[in-house]
Amino acid sequence: MERCNDDARKGKKIVIAVDGFSSCGKSTFAKAIAARLGYIFIDTGAMYRAVTLYALDHGAIRSGMVDEEAVAALLKDIEITFRFNPERGASDIYVNGDLAEGRIRTIEVSNCVSRVSSIREVREKLVAMQQRMGRDRGVVMDGRDIGTVVFPDAEMKIFMTADPKVRAERRYAELRAKGDEVSMEEVLENVVSRDRADMNRAISPLRQAPDAVVLDNSRMSVDEQMAWFMERYEKMA
Ligand code: C5P
Repeated sequence: MERCNDDARKGKKIVIAVDGFSSCGKSTFAKAIAARLGYIFIDTGAMYRAVTLYALDHGAIRSGMVDEEAVAALLKDIEITFRFNPERGASDIYVNGDLAEGRIRTIEVSNCVSRVSSIREVREKLVAMQQRMGRDRGVVMDGRDIGTVVFPDAEMKIFMTADPKVRAERRYAELRAKGDEVSMEEVLENVVSRDRADMNRAISPLRQAPDAVVLDNSRMSVDEQMAWFMERYEKMA
């Protein structure tokens, strides 16, 4: 696929914010855009998952109960880094130098991550990191609050949504393919409850930015989503 050099044509790189509901395929879409434009792709959900994994490993979450103060106290010990993995065409996440990519995607982490992400100190640390990573523009960042809080000045904002059943089916297939013994009910419950928690938390709730364009990809292939994106991108002045 030929790389688009529109940013060179316009003389500047931009920030593309991709926000939306859980398991909408935001990362797949954002990664495809980044590859097409030669931009850096940043999966901010992976960062909240990494903190959750660390909290699970260090006793700040026990039997599904999140000790918010203990999580906040652990933050100073957590160093998150990304390293590009050419096989995946995306960056893998490392916690204190250890590869965490596989372990952050389990249902155990998914079940606790929305509570961890509602902790003020966690958001402050991760938002500051995300702002540093996008300082030079030329990034496609996916998450829940990118167009509203992290980069309210993003030149392009996309809000993704899809039918919850379609989203749960996609996530279920992904988890089963990795050998995770989850049930469809458990995955659907997780998708719906994370949406609820993410929309109703006090700090940086999941919201569609007023200047975001909505993409409902319930019945769209990745190629169709890319065609949708390129049409809008090319129309930008
Ligand atoms: O994108 P992903 O589903 O991996 O995100 C996991 C969780 O991390 C979300 O359900 C949400 O609670 C949290 N999150 C967030 N803000 C972001 C990205 C993710 O609160 N920018």
